[in-house]
Amino acid sequence: MSTLEIRDLHVAVGDKEILRGVDLTVRSGQTHAIMGPNGSGKSTLAYAIAGHPKYTITSGEVLLDGEDLLGMTVDERARAGLFLAMQYPVEVPGVSVSNFLRSAITAVRGEAPKLREFAKELKSGMDALSIDPAFAQRNTNEGFSGGEKKRHEILQLELLKPKIAILDETDSGLDVDALRVVSEGINRFRAHEDTGVLLITHYTRILRYVTPDFVHVFAGGRVVEEGGPELAEKLEAEGYEAYTKASA
Ligand code: ADP
Ligand code: MG
Ligand code: MG
Repeated sequence: MSTLEIRDLHVAVGDKEILRGVDLTVRSGQTHAIMGPNGSGKSTLAYAIAGHPKYTITSGEVLLDGEDLLGMTVDERARAGLFLAMQYPVEVPGVSVSNFLRSAITAVRGEAPKLREFAKELKSGMDALSIDPAFAQRNTNEGFSGGEKKRHEILQLELLKPKIAILDETDSGLDVDALRVVSEGINRFRAHEDTGVLLITHYTRILRYVTPDFVHVFAGGRVVEEGGPELAEKLEAEGYEAYTKASA
């Protein structure tokens, strides 16, 4: 069992305060959705937890199973069992998807998977996500379409099996078929009882496929409302206007 605990987190970019006291706890077996209007600080939360140097933690803490996550290097965070979709966003010229994934697994597990076993794992992961086998030899992230990026993200989830996964806008730029495949991948991942998911999204449409246990509404850099899956339905019907007015 794992727990990610965000306590009274304040984050600034330069001298601008963006997160203004976020409290959120994600446990294994739970799926949490963070929803909110553009500019409400959703990605800032993800980047801050990822340890992106642009985002300064001005106060508060983030604990993974009681350990101070913010004091860890980015690699240590991954080894501790945290997966952040934007952790590996950059193009990696000359490194194939296959080699990239094998290195990522090696970094997380502390030893390289046997080639034959890795090849099997990779193939079944790619099959499950309807990814063309040739994709494994492409250069990582180079010229990936929106859909390929997201499938690659979910492939990493399946192979790395983190304790807690933070997915930011996994649904953006996906057509209906890709959305379904990606959602099924998230659902397979969260079916493992020892994993928790924090799904960050502006839109409600992915939540029709991936039903969250908890919904948190973000506005103005903090959580302004919390509820169950019914809250996503309310947002779909009513939008964010009520929250943006209140937080302005
Ligand atoms: P969301 O993901 O909810 O759309 P963001 O976290 O991306 O919101 O942005 C929240 C606010 O912080 C916005 O006003 C945005 O302009 C600002 N911000 C976020 N990241 C940066 C950055 N790297 N540099 C400058 N401003 C930023
Ligand atoms: Mg709370
Ligand atoms: Mg964002």
